[in-house]
Amino acid sequence: MGAPPLLTAEERARALEKAKISRQQRAVVKLKIKSGELSIADVINLAKSDEAVAKMRVLEMIESKSGVGKIRAKGLLEKLEISESRRVQGLGKHQLRALLKEFEGPRGVIRGTLVVLSGPGGVGKSTVAKALRGSTTFLVSISATTRSPRFNESEGVDYHFYSNSDFDQAIKNGDFLEWAEFAGNRYGTPRLPVEVALNEGHNVLLEIEIEGAKQVKAKVPEAILVFLEPPTWEELVSRLEGRGTDSPERRAARLALAQEEMAAASFFDKVLVNDRVEKVVARLIEFVTT
Ligand code: 5GP
Repeated sequence: MGAPPLLTAEERARALEKAKISRQQRAVVKLKIKSGELSIADVINLAKSDEAVAKMRVLEMIESKSGVGKIRAKGLLEKLEISESRRVQGLGKHQLRALLKEFEGPRGVIRGTLVVLSGPGGVGKSTVAKALRGSTTFLVSISATTRSPRFNESEGVDYHFYSNSDFDQAIKNGDFLEWAEFAGNRYGTPRLPVEVALNEGHNVLLEIEIEGAKQVKAKVPEAILVFLEPPTWEELVSRLEGRGTDSPERRAARLALAQEEMAAASFFDKVLVNDRVEKVVARLIEFVTT
């Protein structure tokens, strides 16, 4: 047998960086278990789509729970016949059931549906999303952006307003489900709240531009991608030109981009014409309830 292949310095550096990011992600998850923000069921569900969480030791996961600690955690693993070196991804069906029963009681949660509402800038996506805020059918995700707040926007309601360096760090930490640049600013969907809500059985609506929608489809193939179209091109132009919040240069750039964006409809699962907001809202609700 020949010697195992050696990694180049660059490959080794990349592997080390990846391992470091995974450790950071696990540390965040452990803190969230401790604070009660994440339940054991949430973490197990998260592990299905997140490699870093999948590789977390079961022992680490349960000893992070407030009031458990190292000794009780070891005792629990012994009782449930789970080895101390077992990772979340390696848990068998019976072990998973036993673990969930121990921590959550015998409840089963059906995962919610992820709906992505996209379409050209100015088509009225945010009006539809706003109409759905506070609805019992959807949780509307709040994006992060590097754009400055408009006069009528507030932090944590319309967006989480990030500095460029915070946004860089969030990308590095793998905090976004997707992110994209649009008209000179960056926008991203915080991943964890979306995953947790879906795992708790809530439907989640993302209102995002087209490149981001494509990324979501690649990562969450079961997501429903909805393209919102204006009734006519002229209508879209008049909406973009009538925006009081944008400068003339920004409006022109948005118009040029909208022309390209209109061509992306064929990529989407559903196309809805935005002739009446209430009609679009009703159709979106229909997609997840029937
Ligand atoms: P605005 O600056 O007008 O609020 O948003 C500009 C564009 O960014 C809109 O098309 C909006 O749908 C999109 N957008 C908002 N949040 C996100 C996000 O989290 N990810 C992506 N990819 N686009 C977003």
